[in-house]
Amino acid sequence: MLEPGGALAELRVGVRHWCEAHVPPGWRHQQRGADHAELVEFLRWWGGELRCSGLFAPHWPREWGGGFSVEEQVVIAEELARGDVPRNALFHVAVFNVAPTLFHNATREQRDRFLPGIRDGEVWCQGYSEPDAGSDLASLQTRAVRDGDRYIVNGQKVWTSWAREADWCMLLVRTDPSEAKHQGISCLVVDMHSPGIAVRPIQQAWGPADFNEVFFDNVVIPVENRLGPEHGGWGVAQGTLAAERAISILEMTERLRHHGIEGAIREAVAWRLERGEVALDDPAVRELLAECWAEVHVVRNVLNQMIDDIILGVDVSGSSSVIKVLYSELLHRMMLRITDLRGVAGQIDAGVLACAGWETGFWMNDFIHSFGWLIGGGTNEIQRNVIGERMLGLPR
Ligand SMILES: Cc1cc2nc3c(=O)[nH]c(=O)nc-3n(C[C@H](O)[C@H](O)[C@H](O)COP(=O)(O)OP(=O)(O)OC[C@H]3O[C@@H](n4cnc5c(N)ncnc54)[C@H](O)[C@@H]3O)c2cc1C
Repeated sequence: MLEPGGALAELRVGVRHWCEAHVPPGWRHQQRGADHAELVEFLRWWGGELRCSGLFAPHWPREWGGGFSVEEQVVIAEELARGDVPRNALFHVAVFNVAPTLFHNATREQRDRFLPGIRDGEVWCQGYSEPDAGSDLASLQTRAVRDGDRYIVNGQKVWTSWAREADWCMLLVRTDPSEAKHQGISCLVVDMHSPGIAVRPIQQAWGPADFNEVFFDNVVIPVENRLGPEHGGWGVAQGTLAAERAISILEMTERLRHHGIEGAIREAVAWRLERGEVALDDPAVRELLAECWAEVHVVRNVLNQMIDDIILGVDVSGSSSVIKVLYSELLHRMMLRITDLRGVAGQIDAGVLACAGWETGFWMNDFIHSFGWLIGGGTNEIQRNVIGERMLGLPR
């Protein structure tokens, strides 16, 4: 079990050894062609490995099994990326979205009730988006009517990642339709096994169906499951912390460096070299490799700046939009270039894939999947609005 508080160099060696001992060799290859159930089983197993190591949620407070400093979290992220660990995708919402919300908006009783479950492997989903409320989230219409010590919920959510597997959902509902749209919203914790919930998977273009439509038909939720004040859910929804987002993006950027550029592109070049189609002294290939290398380093340097600011206590909420745009567009460009490099044969070398994003090695699928990063977590157009208004002071 890795602990916070020691020397950074020792932590680095500890995480590196842990990765060598625990990451299953060839896991990427084994996941190719896995169906949804197999992927979920693999991710549950992997989440369990992380939980036993102290690396499941290093950013949580120490009393909940975390307590690693920002510098330590950076070392952990770098070593997990270098060690080519599978992403902790099934538990990402619980660890990075729900837990910070609980730390900042829940009562002590709520934290004691929900956090141990996350530590024991319960899956959470986030019920925010609706068919007519995505970028304009405050337009959401799912209705919760108060009836004594409970709410009765009716409505529909969409694009809810991992809702089929989820034990709990952090749900935004309208509790007062007479108020202006940013008011009158509340945040409820819903037991996904409650009567009246129906989950319908949405098949994605690259194969798997890890997001869903979720329907609520007179679902009963106890008032004690509300996070934050009644009608104060908009403030709660804004609570996901930019600092934690920065470090999770740092890990993904490092993965692109180690396994994207130095692994994937070389593999793609080798694949075409075998066929005598392209040579490493081809100026176009060299330019492509150099561009990718430079772009990853640009993103990493912006991240370094942001992490310095976090350590100094500077507000990084605007920078987190910059990083989201930079990372997702870098990923998308790299997947496009690799797909292009592999040529037409590479583009039809696809199968039904379970693993998310550039992790699969089926570049065409990874290219298709990379579009999702431009949209999820707030589209890049919306992030640019945020940058323009909040960082540059441009008029709305
Ligand atoms: C991989 C993935 C996982 C997701 N997981 C979840 C989840 O677990 N839970 C959840 O609740 N949601 C989830 N989402 C949904 C995601 O949050 C929404 O798709 C996103 O907020 C955009 O909303 P929308 O799809 O309704 O698009 P819309 O809001 O309808 O936007 C359509 C287009 O118009 C543009 N646009 C809209 N308004 C503006 C504006 N004011 N200025 C400029 N351009 C604008 C958008 O950028 C976009 O290009 C996920 C999405 C993806 C891709």
